[in-house]
Amino acid sequence: MADPAECTIKVMCRFRPLNSSEVARGDKYIPKFQGDDCVQIAGKPYYFDCVFQSNTTQVQFYNAVAQKIVRDVLEGYNGTIFAYGQTSSGKTHTMEGKLHDPDTMGIIPRIVQDIFNYIYSMDENLEFHIKVSYFEIYLDKIRDLLDVSKTNLSVHEDKNRVPYVKGCTERFVCSPEEVMDAIDEGKNNRHVAVTNMNEHSSRSHSIFLINIKQENTQTDQKLTSKLYLVDLAGSEKVGKTGAEGTVLDEAKMINKSLSSLGNVISALAEGSTYVPYRDSKMTRILQDSLGGNCRTTMIICCSPSSFNDAETRSTLLFGQRAKTIKNTVSLNVELTAEQWKKKWEKEKDRNKTLKNTVSWLENELTRWRKGETVPVEEQFDKEKAKAEVQALDGALNNDKITTAPVFSSLPGVKLTDAERDKYEAEMTKLYKELDDKVRKEPTETLHISDKKDDDEINQQSQLVEKLKQQMLDQEELLTSSRRDHDTLQTELNRLLSENEASKEEVKEVLQALEELAVNYDQKSQEVEDKAKEFEALSEELNEKSSSLASIDSELQKLKEMTNHQKKRVTEMMSSLLKDLAEIGVALGSSDIKQQESSGVIDEEFTVARLYISKLKSEVKTMVKRSKHLESTQSESAQKMEATERELTECQLRISQHEAKIKSLTDCLQNVEQKKRQLEENVDCLNEEIVRIKAQEKVNAMEKENEIQSANEVKEAVEKQIQSHRETHQRQISSLRDELDNKEKIITELQDLNQNIMLEQERLRVEHEKLKAAEQEKSRQLQELTVLQDRREQARQDLKGLEETVARELQTLHNLRRLFVQDLATRVKKKGQTDSDDTEGSTAQKQKITFLENNLQQLTKVHKQLVRDNAELRGEIPKLEKRLRATAERVKALEAALKEAKENAARDRNRYQQEMERIKDAVKPKNMGRRPSAQIVLALILKRKYQKWGFSGPGNTQSTSEWE
Ligand code: ADP
Ligand code: MG
Repeated sequence: MADPAECTIKVMCRFRPLNSSEVARGDKYIPKFQGDDCVQIAGKPYYFDCVFQSNTTQVQFYNAVAQKIVRDVLEGYNGTIFAYGQTSSGKTHTMEGKLHDPDTMGIIPRIVQDIFNYIYSMDENLEFHIKVSYFEIYLDKIRDLLDVSKTNLSVHEDKNRVPYVKGCTERFVCSPEEVMDAIDEGKNNRHVAVTNMNEHSSRSHSIFLINIKQENTQTDQKLTSKLYLVDLAGSEKVGKTGAEGTVLDEAKMINKSLSSLGNVISALAEGSTYVPYRDSKMTRILQDSLGGNCRTTMIICCSPSSFNDAETRSTLLFGQRAKTIKNTVSLNVELTAEQWKKKWEKEKDRNKTLKNTVSWLENELTRWRKGETVPVEEQFDKEKAKAEVQALDGALNNDKITTAPVFSSLPGVKLTDAERDKYEAEMTKLYKELDDKVRKEPTETLHISDKKDDDEINQQSQLVEKLKQQMLDQEELLTSSRRDHDTLQTELNRLLSENEASKEEVKEVLQALEELAVNYDQKSQEVEDKAKEFEALSEELNEKSSSLASIDSELQKLKEMTNHQKKRVTEMMSSLLKDLAEIGVALGSSDIKQQESSGVIDEEFTVARLYISKLKSEVKTMVKRSKHLESTQSESAQKMEATERELTECQLRISQHEAKIKSLTDCLQNVEQKKRQLEENVDCLNEEIVRIKAQEKVNAMEKENEIQSANEVKEAVEKQIQSHRETHQRQISSLRDELDNKEKIITELQDLNQNIMLEQERLRVEHEKLKAAEQEKSRQLQELTVLQDRREQARQDLKGLEETVARELQTLHNLRRLFVQDLATRVKKKGQTDSDDTEGSTAQKQKITFLENNLQQLTKVHKQLVRDNAELRGEIPKLEKRLRATAERVKALEAALKEAKENAARDRNRYQQEMERIKDAVKPKNMGRRPSAQIVLALILKRKYQKWGFSGPGNTQSTSEWE
């Protein structure tokens, strides 16, 4: 290896410009730049190797930062470029930019281009082998971006104890285009693997590795170098991104690799003996870049916005700390066999010197320990020891000058010159082979068994990864299905409860419905009752109103009568007064003449006076009474209104009472007749007595001797008369009793009869009314049927008319056709003969006009008929409707009539039955005595009336009936 040289990590700071959203938000631009290497934030200065302002272009930045590294790498040094900073501070912009845009492309594409440009300009003897790898570290797992199946690669150390990613795809590239293709492929794979690229890229570290091996075909000089281009994850704190749950774990892991990077840098900066490279895979991979054999540049990307103030400051502090790290860089030269030999010899020399020194010092030590003093010239001296060794070597070289140093130490081996030559040739050949092998696949040859293991590990880890993925999927599925289940359960519960509720509701509704139905029934019943009641009431009302009208008329009559009577009374009064006056005058004149003549006249006069005074008082009372009557009349007129209502009720009673009175008067008359008959009887008996007495007197005169016997006879006669009288009286009393009974029965019957008569009257009136209504209806019906008939007739007429019109039209049409034909033929003829027949044409014209007129009239008539027809048709449904309604009404009325008739019939029947019953009840009583008694009474009454010269009382009819 070339001489190692210490160098610090270069730290560059780059500020991006304010982005559009920050400008829109009005964020302040906080960094203040001082010179090339200092930036001030809030007055505090931060120093770096170089500070780049926001307006730095990609080209400027590349030239200033990365160009030198390309040269270093191609000279055989390792190189690393980190981009550190919070998310969207410009890391990716700086590292990659727009990969295919010449202006905005970042460091990586430019480096690739530069490397190849450099190679093309180099010596032709140089052979380059360039491999690229592209992987990302996410959650401390290395994923190959050039082979998506490699998801969890491990970190191993090579023979020089330099860590490298084992099994990572290494793609050999021969042109910048191939490199860019690889980068594109890797980026594509990265996009495919994740759902949210922005989030993912801010949480993963992406590492692009360029491995360069160069060989000088002439000198066999080989140089190897690695260039790591690292786009780190966002350095922001977890709190700011608002991460939670699994995202938080993720963030911790990311922060873990970043914080272990910080720890490594701190440890290196403090110069501590232990550097925790193994804390994370990233620090392990970049072990060489941090404090190892590497030229490292760290780009600190910052946001200028005041919003990111805190993050920017912590980023700047991180950069400052990293700046103190010292790396020891050396050329990675691969030695040829010759060089190795030389190196071995050199080392052997050194070894010899050291051995000599050790033995010398041991000798000196034992002498000192023994208590001897070692003189100064015998004490250990570096120069002396060196010289001694060289002297010894010189002596040996002199002995076996052609012997190879390797085998010079082998004791007891003695070789001839030819053998030695052969041997040396063999050795060089072997060395050569060894070199070749090492060059071809150093790791492969050395770690064949290891590779198998790694492959298996890789496979296993892939499997594990797959299984984990599956498990996650399953878990997700499980949770989602659980969630679904929960939601379904709740839904089910809800539905069940809803179902219950709706059931309840349905029950309630049913109940309510039942109640309603019951209510409805009740109500309909009530309605029916009410309707009936209403009907009854309306009937009653009608009755009442009719009776009221009659009473009114009666009242009117009564009033008239009272007026009339008043008039009569006044007339009478006036006539009386006149009479009085006349009497007074007469009296006055007769007084003077006859005053002295007689006392009889005086008496008469006093009598007359008395009469007059009586009359006067009577007149006065009459006047008073008339006044009183007048006042009472006015009152009664008022009362009348009130009593009108009662009057209707009283009507029936009055009529009943009248009937009663009638019957009573009848009865009275009967009684009178009886009385008269009895009196007559008494008269007869008296006459007989008188006759008998006369007979007795005659007998006494004739038979004086037989007085005693005559007296006896007389007594007997008297006894006879007595007994006769007694029987007579008994007969009379019994007759009177009977009479009373009969009278009672008669009055009852009469009442009943009266009632029934009234009822019948009412029914009769009703019947009449209904009959009238029915007649009216039937009349209407007849009218309607007549109308209908007429309409039918009209329709038929219309049809006939239409037909005739059509026929007419047809004939007209034919005529017209004929006419046209005729005209045509005439025209033809005219054309042929060229001579006019004016007379014929005028006749034709007249005919035509006549026909046209006819046609016009006919069309008019036709139109009119059509219109009439339409109107009639329009009226038909209306009339039909009316007809139907009327028919219905007629039906209803007929039904009502029938009902009324039936009612009347029933009532009549009832009445007849009642009558029959009464008759039956009365008959047996009257069977025996009544007719004889009645006949006797009638005879007696007749005789009496004849005797008194009467033609007979009101009951002549009944007497005639009896006769
Ligand atoms: P990071 O990789 O740090 O999350 P990006 O590189 O994606 O951030 O940058 C975020 C946005 O800012 C990108 O749209 C990018 O184009 C823009 N940007 C970053 N740095 C600069 C710059 N120096 N000049 C112009 N635009 C920039
Ligand atoms: Mg980025």
